[in-house]
Amino acid sequence: MDFTLFGFCLPKILSTLLSNLRNVGLILLTPWFFSWAAIGVTLFLHWLFGSIGICLGYHRLLSHRSLEVPKWLEYAISIIGVLALQGGPIFWVAGHRLHHAYTEDKEKDPYSAQRGFWWSHMLWLFYPRPEFFEYDRYQRFAPDLARDPVYRWLDRYYLLLQIPLGLLLYAIGGWSFIIYGMCLRAVLLWHSTWFINSGTHVWGYRTFEVDDNSRNLWWAAILTYGEGWHNNHHAYTNVAKAGWRWWEIDPTWWAIAILKMLGLAKKVVMPPVLVTNKS
Ligand SMILES: [Zn+2]
Ligand SMILES: [Zn+2]
Repeated sequence: MDFTLFGFCLPKILSTLLSNLRNVGLILLTPWFFSWAAIGVTLFLHWLFGSIGICLGYHRLLSHRSLEVPKWLEYAISIIGVLALQGGPIFWVAGHRLHHAYTEDKEKDPYSAQRGFWWSHMLWLFYPRPEFFEYDRYQRFAPDLARDPVYRWLDRYYLLLQIPLGLLLYAIGGWSFIIYGMCLRAVLLWHSTWFINSGTHVWGYRTFEVDDNSRNLWWAAILTYGEGWHNNHHAYTNVAKAGWRWWEIDPTWWAIAILKMLGLAKKVVMPPVLVTNKS
């Protein structure tokens, strides 16, 4: 099997799954697979892979280095991110760094909001451009990760980790846990993450007058455990906390605060005091 191709087939998987969404929906409606335990597993894995894996791991830790954790924990959190099925860590981090470096540039931002809502939400994955999807090209934007053989392995074989996850879910709860805990959860988490690239560049309020159109959007913050405070984030990209006002809830920050309390997170970048007072 050509694992390079295997690693690049994410857009194909997405389009197959989404074009069959009606069938998937029908399956979900069948009473045989429904259980409250399956709903619980869906919500738990949405939080674990979404908040801990993607928001804390791929985003704040790997993309922006907003905090430092011991290497073993960094790898563990990255593996949780890999399980979210949003591509390998080098692919994700490189794309995200390009988004910040060239925000809303039609050519250089992989999910530029200037190309329309649906492009930034998901179409960029259906029309993969080589500069963002070919390893040799995108790895240049995450050289710190590309130097590490663990990240190179995870980036190439990330899909393989779905097998033990599937087997575990099947062993615990049969097809019900697979359909809810893997299929439904993956689709829900994809859209949650995608709303940050699309919705938070369109709707919401602005605390900071930055050069791009980023906004703070409360419902996107709920869906993404804090990432929806995207205007704050674009203004201060390397700060570990996305919600700055008391009501800007940021559950990913709570997890970082617990790690800090346990002595596991160091060099946590905080919002500048002067700015927080003003905002
Ligand atoms: Zn953005
Ligand atoms: Zn970011």
